[in-house]
Amino acid sequence: MFLSQLSPEQRHSAVAELGSENFDVLVIGGGVTGVGAALDAASRGLKVALIESQDIAAGTSSRSSKLIHGGLRYLEQYDFKLVREALHERELLVSTLCPHLVKPVGFLFPLTEKFKERTYVGAGLALYDALRGFQRALPWHKHISQRQINEIAPSLRPDIIMGAIKYFDAQVDDARHTLSVARTAARHGAIIATRVRADSLIREGKRVVGVKAKDLVSGKSISIKATVTVMCAGIWSDELHEKFELKAGYGVTMSKGVHIVLPGSAIKSNAGIILKTPVSVLFLIPWGDKWIVGTTDTPYTGDRAEPFATREDVQYILDQANRVLTPKLKTEEIIGVYAGLRPLVANNKGSATTKLSREHTVDRPAAGFVSIAGGKYTTYRVMGKDVIDLAVNQLRKLTPESVTEKLPLIGADGYFALVQQSERIAEESGLDSETISHLLNRYGSMISEILDLIGSQPSLAQKLHKDLPYLKAEVHYAASHEGARTVDDVISRRTRIAFEAINHGVELAGDIAAIIAPVLEWSAKDRRESVTSYEDLVEREKTALDEMLFESEKISS
Ligand SMILES: Cc1cc2nc3c(=O)[nH]c(=O)nc-3n(C[C@H](O)[C@H](O)[C@H](O)COP(=O)(O)OP(=O)(O)OC[C@H]3O[C@@H](n4cnc5c(N)ncnc54)[C@H](O)[C@@H]3O)c2cc1C
Repeated sequence: MFLSQLSPEQRHSAVAELGSENFDVLVIGGGVTGVGAALDAASRGLKVALIESQDIAAGTSSRSSKLIHGGLRYLEQYDFKLVREALHERELLVSTLCPHLVKPVGFLFPLTEKFKERTYVGAGLALYDALRGFQRALPWHKHISQRQINEIAPSLRPDIIMGAIKYFDAQVDDARHTLSVARTAARHGAIIATRVRADSLIREGKRVVGVKAKDLVSGKSISIKATVTVMCAGIWSDELHEKFELKAGYGVTMSKGVHIVLPGSAIKSNAGIILKTPVSVLFLIPWGDKWIVGTTDTPYTGDRAEPFATREDVQYILDQANRVLTPKLKTEEIIGVYAGLRPLVANNKGSATTKLSREHTVDRPAAGFVSIAGGKYTTYRVMGKDVIDLAVNQLRKLTPESVTEKLPLIGADGYFALVQQSERIAEESGLDSETISHLLNRYGSMISEILDLIGSQPSLAQKLHKDLPYLKAEVHYAASHEGARTVDDVISRRTRIAFEAINHGVELAGDIAAIIAPVLEWSAKDRRESVTSYEDLVEREKTALDEMLFESEKISS
């Protein structure tokens, strides 16, 4: 059995192994698609390595709407196959693969007209529920009258909202889930190395036999040997195809999506809300004691690594939400903002690419090299399976079928039983039951590792900040077990402080650096640099937003 821990020592030996071993499969990209592919391949018994140039989930996979859903809008396009597939994945995630991370969430579809709209939307939602077959982890949709709406969602304008239909989907902390898939892949033997960038391909004749990469920490070059290289680079796909001198079967364009984060008090509703907009839909999604509202959909050609929201993006979201809300949302209520880039895939003319679904495409532009792009977060497991099914053809050996449908992620084992024992865990650990529930919903059965840390260093039981749910132990654990290597990794992805705290939590950067410095064996200079680098990132983001949101009160630590 291998360890799932992504510690500094693990990274050190992973980088050494990258240069000395021959792998069956080398995955480029540590977004949800890449880690899904690495898990699929490792759990088939293959020798697997994954390299990620930034941090796990640093690309699109930490910047989504965080919904695990069938995609209501595909019903209007009659794409029942796609909806059925996504609903199947939703069921698997909620009930088997990671129930500690993926949770059901109710949405109101408000109606502005009494009969015709209710019949049309009701039929659509009945079909949506029916397409999941006999799987029943989430409740069936139900009709809500205008009188009930006033109780359930007093923030919906009574003068125009005539009732609603409530249906269910699911939600997840995307960055945490992607990390859990990566750690599960590590537990099944995959070598995971972040801050290692693929720069060029190693070829023998026409065949790709590996990748020349750079360790961005030491600056050293590494030649990684692999029978098949699997590229899962999302919005970086076109750039890498060009760099690798490959004629790809598809192109990837980028579309920017922005979300704003508001305090719970800004919207009075005990369910999420979905609104049709002129171009797509807008979600008002409950997120702990806050709301996430988005998203936009605009073409984008700027820096892939740092997509920022603009004043116009934020204004669009406020305007759309305010069509139905009373009182209206105000700019000064906004706590946080984040932007992400959708990888939209289009097949190139005359290519032999397989467009396996309307959403994702797999390609084999050279012997020994396959790639995948597009898709949605919800279907990452299917994408991982599809790309590895294509990759194993290159291995010239019999390889077992994918088993990820039956493979729970780390932390999922015994989760439901642990929830029932949470009072006892609270008593034994001395933590309150709210904290235990917070920890179970982030680590599942791996809560024992956090509690062990607190046992050995009781001061880590303290909260990082009185207004945030995170313990100091979680910050320590991020660096000791979850591969965090910078202040940004902890603030933006291991926790979600970057959009949950005012001013991107910049005031907490120093405290976080102090906790992770000994784990990462930082000097005083390393510590200062990591804090400054996060402060600079926030400055660039503020400039893009034109200071519009940062006049409000700052978080006081
Ligand atoms: C605003 C928005 C909302 C969304 N909402 C939802 C939703 O609610 N539900 C849903 O199902 N889907 C949603 N999606 C879609 C979903 O988020 C994406 O489809 C998914 O995250 C893409 O994952 P990926 O792994 O393909 O790409 P990424 O997460 O971008 O991963 C690609 C990785 O490749 C790495 N990389 C690039 N170049 C190199 C190199 N040279 N060497 C090594 N590594 C490299 C990058 O650093 C990056 O981490 C949303 C997308 C957006 C933008």
